[in-house]
Amino acid sequence: MGGRGSGRQCSYGGKPETSDSMPLDIRKITRKGLLVTGNRFSWQWLVNDRQVAGISVRVDLQSMVLSYCMKSTGEVVEQQVQTQTSPCHLGGQRYWFTCPRCRKRVAVLYAPGRYFACRQCGGLGYATQKEGAGDRASTKADKLRKRLGWQAGILNGGGGKPKGMHLKTYQRLKSNHDALVQVSLHDIGRKLGFLHKLLEE
Ligand SMILES: [Zn+2]
Repeated sequence: MGGRGSGRQCSYGGKPETSDSMPLDIRKITRKGLLVTGNRFSWQWLVNDRQVAGISVRVDLQSMVLSYCMKSTGEVVEQQVQTQTSPCHLGGQRYWFTCPRCRKRVAVLYAPGRYFACRQCGGLGYATQKEGAGDRASTKADKLRKRLGWQAGILNGGGGKPKGMHLKTYQRLKSNHDALVQVSLHDIGRKLGFLHKLLEE
């Protein structure tokens, strides 16, 4: 941990993310002390320790530049996203993204397509309406995750065997879960098309 406001962050009691469309959570970035003007870092989405997607991030004053490579075309996409702060009642400050489309302040952006946007603008509602095999798999996986006591969202990885659960039950749930994750990841990869981290510099 490091950076401004370290150790003085608000505690966030928000709902866990339920999306599999690569959530970019400014709270996680802040917690890692990466939100420092001028800083460059790469952000990765891991499933079972395997990187499934990644982007490069440059932190500017009150904005971030997200860059990634569209796997389908090899095109480099750069998107500037504004950030803002609000004071915490416990002191320090809380960081937010400003959704590039609706200008609402949000903690998490999603990239269901070419650009990052908030959950509403990001087309996740659209994804639900036109739910494909991958989305259904991910919804089912999330139900299993709930039984396992794991944080929702397949990109959040596994949380181990819950206390008091029989090993056999755990193994059955986990292997069902892992199979669903494979289906879902395949679909995410097809939809997003940028599975490879763009290496800058
Ligand atoms: Zn929005």
